[in-house]
Amino acid sequence: MLKVCSVCHLVYQREPGYFSGATFFSYALGTTLVGIWIIIFFTFFPELPDIWVHGLALALMLPFLPIIMRYSRILWMMMDRSIDISPQ
Ligand SMILES: [Zn+2]
Repeated sequence: MLKVCSVCHLVYQREPGYFSGATFFSYALGTTLVGIWIIIFFTFFPELPDIWVHGLALALMLPFLPIIMRYSRILWMMMDRSIDISPQ
């Protein structure tokens, strides 16, 4: 991840551990995605056992982790900067 935006020179990581708050968004995005997979499996494959549905939903969420991490950081920065107006 870049340290500074090349266009507006915004410092992404304001302090050590800054992105630990992004885990809240990561959790929300990940569980939402797993829930969507579970609904899809229960709708189209109702004969599958529950343990398979949940296992497959978790497995199908794993390839999306890099995207989830990126967008959770973006959401965290947007929320943090909308609350805190101090420079950088
Ligand atoms: Zn920028």
